[in-house]
Amino acid sequence: MLKDVLIKRKVYTSEEHLMLKQGVQDFIKAEILPHNEKWEEEGMVSRELWKKAGEMGLLCIDMPIEYGGAGLEFSYSALIVEEISKHGITGPGFFLHSDIVAPYILHYGTEKQKKNYLPAMAKGDIIGAIAMTEPSCGSDLRSLKTTAVDKGDHYEVTGSKTFITNGYMSDLSIVAVRTNPGTDEEGISLLLMESSMEGFSKGTPFKKIGMKAQDTCELFFDKVKVPKENLLGEEKMGFKIMMKELARERLIVAIMAIGGAKGAIEQTLKYTAERTAFKQPIAGFQNTQFKLAEATAKLQIHQSFLDDCILLLNKHELSAEAASLAKFSATDMHSQVVDECLQLHGGYGYIWEYPIARMYADNRVARIYAGTNEIMKLLISRGLYKDLL
Ligand SMILES: Cc1cc2nc3c(=O)[nH]c(=O)nc-3n(C[C@H](O)[C@H](O)[C@H](O)COP(=O)(O)OP(=O)(O)OC[C@H]3O[C@@H](n4cnc5c(N)ncnc54)[C@H](O)[C@@H]3O)c2cc1C
Repeated sequence: MLKDVLIKRKVYTSEEHLMLKQGVQDFIKAEILPHNEKWEEEGMVSRELWKKAGEMGLLCIDMPIEYGGAGLEFSYSALIVEEISKHGITGPGFFLHSDIVAPYILHYGTEKQKKNYLPAMAKGDIIGAIAMTEPSCGSDLRSLKTTAVDKGDHYEVTGSKTFITNGYMSDLSIVAVRTNPGTDEEGISLLLMESSMEGFSKGTPFKKIGMKAQDTCELFFDKVKVPKENLLGEEKMGFKIMMKELARERLIVAIMAIGGAKGAIEQTLKYTAERTAFKQPIAGFQNTQFKLAEATAKLQIHQSFLDDCILLLNKHELSAEAASLAKFSATDMHSQVVDECLQLHGGYGYIWEYPIARMYADNRVARIYAGTNEIMKLLISRGLYKDLL
């Protein structure tokens, strides 16, 4: 087991954190690992898993108690994400549901919206998704084409979204749309759309190179009638809201990278201690020792920065630039670490039943989603030049 710290961690320090960590580990062993292979074949996890996670209090843990959460600070949610990622589990999109969808509703929802959706999300009775990306645009979100035409008491929504995490199993999606198209009031807004609404349909889950148990899919809207009361925030505020909330989303993806890199190093320490070549453990070669020392250094340095980011988010003080930096740098680090760790497994590293093979395939997308790493660098450089250009 890789020691958590060469320097003492600044987060997850309380008794309650330790108890939660143990609880998550037990949950993974009992409820996820035995079924993971089957879920990979089916392209999705079971609904039962979501309900069990809800019963265990693993969903929406930092939502206020009156909305079904445990009222804890963000670091508890971060711990769950890190621990799940450490085990190489990528099927259940708990992180997206609890750490992205729920905060949007908490921060911008009406009292009725919060009461309607958050307690049910915390129980795992409904599964949340967020739908921004369209077939013709991902990075360039401002050019999205899905329209929401004002029809008095409701919007009529037409268009489609793609690559939606939890999409196939989702009951509730936050959908970015263009309201009042073709008028002076045109702008991007967010709607809470229920999958049961007439005209709402889903594609089959994509066959991806990794994250095989994650039900990523397309969503289609054919004149879906969405009541006006399902507007999240105000009309034309959608882009501003997304930019604000994306900081948390990007930090979460960075935390997943920390957990993932840690898991990869742990797997490789074990493997190289057991596997022999030339009458000695692979761990006996200086190359192995140096590679794992380098990987651990990269991990530890990122972990320290990320711990600071978690503490800042606890206080609602994390900047968009810091979150972008954490996201691109941690996910790049994760890719490098997993690649080196796979190499140390030799041929077995390429075989699916070895966790490192899954980790290799699963981690690749982290440099693409939640805003590509190129877009992260764009955002950081904008900040750097702010007062100069
Ligand atoms: C498994 C998976 C899960 C996802 N989950 C979700 C989800 O739940 N919800 C959701 O809304 N979306 C989701 N996405 C979509 C994801 O966020 C987008 O794929 C991503 O933002 C990139 O958009 P794109 O695919 O359209 O690529 P494009 O925007 O077409 O980019 C293609 C390439 O061009 C580069 N590029 C684009 N603009 C610039 C620029 N200005 N400067 C330099 N380079 C640039 C990009 O970095 C990239 O390398 C998911 C994607 C995947 C694969």
